[in-house]
Amino acid sequence: MKITRFIPSALFGQKRFDDLNEFVDGLYPHKEQYSVYLIDSVHQKTGLRERLQPGPQDLVLEFNASLHEPKTEDVDALRGEIVRRKGGVLPRVVIGIGGGSTMDVAKAVSVMLTNPGSSADYQGWDLVKNKPVPKIAVPTLSGTGAEATRTAVLTGPVKKLGINSDFSIYDAVLMDPELLKTVPADQEFYTGMDNFIHCVESINGSAMNPLGKPFALQAKAAAENFFLKEKNYSELMVGSFLGGCSIANSSVGICHALSYGIAFILGYRHGIANSIVFNQLPEYYGEDVLKFRRMLEKNKVKLPSGVTGGITAEQLDRMIQLTYMLERDLISALGPDFKRILTPEKISRLYEKM
Ligand code: NAD
Ligand code: ZN
Repeated sequence: MKITRFIPSALFGQKRFDDLNEFVDGLYPHKEQYSVYLIDSVHQKTGLRERLQPGPQDLVLEFNASLHEPKTEDVDALRGEIVRRKGGVLPRVVIGIGGGSTMDVAKAVSVMLTNPGSSADYQGWDLVKNKPVPKIAVPTLSGTGAEATRTAVLTGPVKKLGINSDFSIYDAVLMDPELLKTVPADQEFYTGMDNFIHCVESINGSAMNPLGKPFALQAKAAAENFFLKEKNYSELMVGSFLGGCSIANSSVGICHALSYGIAFILGYRHGIANSIVFNQLPEYYGEDVLKFRRMLEKNKVKLPSGVTGGITAEQLDRMIQLTYMLERDLISALGPDFKRILTPEKISRLYEKM
């Protein structure tokens, strides 16, 4: 039995970031307990860090998403720091402020504060046993949908895989579209395309159910409006949230499966890796790939080319194996016989084009 989950509390609006403390206190009134703010280091520069108003007992920690996407060791280290500094006393809430990376780290930290071992032990489906510390998302970059999904994507010693569980979904989200305005244009595009691609893949996949589909359709339209017509940041932010609600209850597809290797082996970040792959998939996602190319052109984004130029036969082999690891997504896209359609030869021909 699969129960559909949605974020129970959301606050939306321009300049609502200034209401963060009130929002937290309203939801978790035990003010004598401390809160953990986990904020992307980039906000030292954007000015957002200065606008936080932590109480004297609160902890403000940073995650530097510009260095790399989250690793299990980042999560374990942050959990260790909180435990050390507060002698094992749990916070009332963990607040994650940033893009998909920082939101995922905060999610994972909230889980790891109440579960033993390393976060790498929980990469997979429904492995988390103990109820986590409550958590609130404050997205500052829109597109991953991490503010609404039940996964915290982490790169561990052996795999890049989410902690997928009902315990890794946010309890609340504060959405202030003003926060998106400092994102560099290329980043805005690539993360925005992550949302667009999630929607295309989920709408075309058999895992989609009637409850998830309207969210995906609306989120896709929002991404198209933003990148082809009018840069309305409220719409972009709502689109990401809706895309997250949809993907939380369906599956991605061929693009995410192929982009796994581009990210894990070649080191490209999530949004850009998906864009590189999606551009080569007209055979599977037809009209939407043409739309994607129009968005590239309109936004003057130049995709990297020759990405797979220097790879070794061994690396290619590994990338093919990684693609097949996203079995659920490939079944949703192509059916249980996916290996006969997306053969290793076919995968390597697609990779060659990138
Ligand atoms: P990100 O969080 O990695 O951030 C990308 C860059 O943008 C960083 O340099 C960051 O510092 C900067 N940035 C963020 N907000 C900014 C702002 N307001 N102003 C200026 N710079 C800002 O990017 P992302 O694309 O949002 O997240 C990617 C990660 O999300 C990957 O690890 C991916 O696997 C994960 N992901 C998670 C889910 C999920 O459901 N949990 C879904 C898709 C992707
Ligand atoms: Zn994605």
